[in-house]
Amino acid sequence: MKVVFSDRAFAAVMAETTEKIKTETGGLFLGSFEDGVWYVIEAIDPGPKSIFEVAYFEYDQQYTQHLINKIANLYDKKLSLIGLWHRHPGSFDQFSSTDDGTNSKYARMRKEGAISALVNIDPEFRLTMYHVNQPCRYSIIEYDVGNHLIPDEMLQYKSPERFEKLMTGIMNDEYKDFRPSVSLNGFLKVVLPYMKRIKINESLHEVGDSNLATERILDELVEDTAFLADEQGIEYSISQVEQFICLSQDAIDVPVKLYFRYIAEKDAVVFSHGSNCYLYKSNEFRRAFEQAFKAQKENTRQRIQYDRGASLSDAVKKIIHINLNGDGK
Ligand SMILES: [Zn+2]
Repeated sequence: MKVVFSDRAFAAVMAETTEKIKTETGGLFLGSFEDGVWYVIEAIDPGPKSIFEVAYFEYDQQYTQHLINKIANLYDKKLSLIGLWHRHPGSFDQFSSTDDGTNSKYARMRKEGAISALVNIDPEFRLTMYHVNQPCRYSIIEYDVGNHLIPDEMLQYKSPERFEKLMTGIMNDEYKDFRPSVSLNGFLKVVLPYMKRIKINESLHEVGDSNLATERILDELVEDTAFLADEQGIEYSISQVEQFICLSQDAIDVPVKLYFRYIAEKDAVVFSHGSNCYLYKSNEFRRAFEQAFKAQKENTRQRIQYDRGASLSDAVKKIIHINLNGDGK
């Protein structure tokens, strides 16, 4: 197992360290894990409202989420949150107990665990890369830097043609006759029948580190929030309530509040609507919407066939009727 940084991601880590040379700092890694290699495609800064103390750091969550959104949107392939880094004072290149907590939460986000790097300036820049296994076992792993070590498609931005297609799609609006409404309630009525309902055992309910739980939820929600806003024209607000992320809309017709939460034991995100609970993963709303759209098209076709069928049998009846009449003559 090893780590490969894109030139840009590594430069971003160094730039952030340089900028905050006199204090602590850190950041998040975006990329993917493939065939035993962690590809760090982008490294994003912790944001203007982050707090850095010697044994404690906290990201500016709104800012990082915004940035994850923006950056992920540029790339052809999906980027996800695969790890983090932060600077330690002096030559201390091991994790504190606070770090253990943070790292193990990141490691629980995916079965392969996560990566977590420490930066020291002693007195030169030094980066130690760790792989964090579940629950929290560390092993130092090698890292390399260079775009040439990364498969081309991972570095690929969406092409101008792809963007144009997306724009045309939005402008031409292939779904224009199938737009439930700008109300979240209307949208849900259409998609919920195509989503998976599950039962949640309340004893599994775990509060844990609410920041990590909500980060995980937001990571899954990123693409659908853009889909709801940009393609469906649904206005909503997102807020954090303890360990929940609440997606709500109260202005249009029926007020809706969807509470998303992360179930660590199942490694799953779920949301509740009324008394039901639904499994949620990245792009789930889009998928359910497209399925509903297909089903509706299918329905329309069947109805047309049925109508044709009906008029055909009417015609047959008429013929029979005529014949009967003929016979009756
Ligand atoms: Zn630390």
